[in-house]
Amino acid sequence: MSAVAAPSSPVTWHSRAAQLSIEGRAFVDGRYVGAASGATFDCVSPIDGRVLAKVASCEQADVDAAVASARRAFDKGGWSRAAPAKRKKVLQRLAELILAHQDELALLETLDMGKPIGDSLAVDIPGAARCIDWYGEAIDKVYDEIAPTGHEVLGMITREPCGVVGAVVPWNFPLLMAAWKLGPALAAGNSVVLKPSEKSPLTAIRVAQLAMEAGLPEGVLNVLPGFGNTAGQALALHMDVDVIAFTGSTRTGKRMLEYAGQSNMKRVWLECGGKSPNIVLADTRDLDRAATAAAWGIFFNQGEVCTAGSRLLVQDSIKDRVLEKVVEVGRTLQPGDPLDPATKLGAIVDTIQMDSVLRYIESGRSEGASLVLGGTRTRRDSGGYYVEPTVFDAVAPGMKIAREEIFGPVLSTLTFKDVDEAIRIANDTIYGLGAAVWTRDVTTAHRVARALRAGSVWVNCYDSGDMTVPFGGYKQSGTGRDKSLHALDKYTELKATWIDLS
Ligand code: NAD
Repeated sequence: MSAVAAPSSPVTWHSRAAQLSIEGRAFVDGRYVGAASGATFDCVSPIDGRVLAKVASCEQADVDAAVASARRAFDKGGWSRAAPAKRKKVLQRLAELILAHQDELALLETLDMGKPIGDSLAVDIPGAARCIDWYGEAIDKVYDEIAPTGHEVLGMITREPCGVVGAVVPWNFPLLMAAWKLGPALAAGNSVVLKPSEKSPLTAIRVAQLAMEAGLPEGVLNVLPGFGNTAGQALALHMDVDVIAFTGSTRTGKRMLEYAGQSNMKRVWLECGGKSPNIVLADTRDLDRAATAAAWGIFFNQGEVCTAGSRLLVQDSIKDRVLEKVVEVGRTLQPGDPLDPATKLGAIVDTIQMDSVLRYIESGRSEGASLVLGGTRTRRDSGGYYVEPTVFDAVAPGMKIAREEIFGPVLSTLTFKDVDEAIRIANDTIYGLGAAVWTRDVTTAHRVARALRAGSVWVNCYDSGDMTVPFGGYKQSGTGRDKSLHALDKYTELKATWIDLS
């Protein structure tokens, strides 16, 4: 697969944006359709507050139609019973098409969600293509098992697709989070009904068409834009959906569990929020590197990252030095025009999220933390929603900004005296998604990594990831894992077949 060269000037991206034709309809049974009710909602760009498109506002009737289409396709077997090598070809073709449309998709993502165009081009779109390609490549190399039973009987253990998967995803990496569901779910032979976030539906809608072009049979992938409490809830309560694969907040994740209990006990897999600790010990070899990683670990993607290192835990003897560098790096990351390839920090996804971030900043101030960088809305003249990189010092573990997920560019700095105290503070949270420790001592590194209750632990780095490595959370950060072969567990049932040989 090869990526398409991208234009490098903001003017080019702005003129491309002006010419873009945007599809806002749902994709059901292999074609674009409006919501059954005819209802739409305005898809607003956080870059400048302008309406990008009218998007179908799907509800129960649309969910019923999409689930019925997905079930028909599943039962027909054109995908669910296709040889894995055939599914592989289609998924790899889809990955190629995503890359071939990389500029268009990156532009849609940036306009819709506000992230810098450079990030959409370098991270989101190639990451989504790589994920789809990876599962396509993998699926004809996954073997079933024969159990070591006695000679009189054959015990076969086979993985079978679950059926209809409802995928409900958030807005912070719209296409990438969708791809983390679509890759393994489709590779395993399921049909999918995807509900993107109402804040960022555009790339999912576009990719549905590319999937058809790639050769996915009608009904195998349906995309329903709409709100959580209408389309999302109807999907999660549906009696004919076998699996809900969810990424989003812990609050909504808990609802998903309730919906499953109220309906058909569908399998529910959750990838939820985080409040990840980033521990810097005084013996760290390169404090500047650790501080720079800490700054990027919170400010990348405007802080709208589930694994954002939102709690910086620094040993008290080196706190001033580390914080000085974090602030220095933060200062260089001022929000800019997301369509300028030089911009490192973009807009916050919408006014609701921006207001929530600003309220958290206010709470940090009022609870007595010390604001050492940022703290205000910026670029108001653009009409968009931007918040400065913000750093608090002297944060106590009990403060709201130390306990709750802010999901914005706000760092809370806490101090500790020794390793045991660092571990105690790090684990004192309902979340368990990511955690990091910086130290030059290999024994300490292992000891702390083992003690941290988190799905991913980084040692002397922050936020490394790869398709080969599972990603997910302990505690209220979720269940199950995205990425790697482990994700196939979410989209397959294990069947035991006994054959009497006596
Ligand atoms: P959210 O929970 O508000 O929404 C996520 C999705 O659920 C959206 O599609 C939304 O429409 C839908 N939804 C909302 N309410 C619903 C309801 N009552 N019933 C059914 N569906 C409903 O989360 P968000 O604001 O979109 O995303 C931010 C959250 O996602 C953060 O907490 C972040 O940490 C988390 N996240 C986690 C991961 C991970 O892999 N663990 C990755 C990215 C984001």
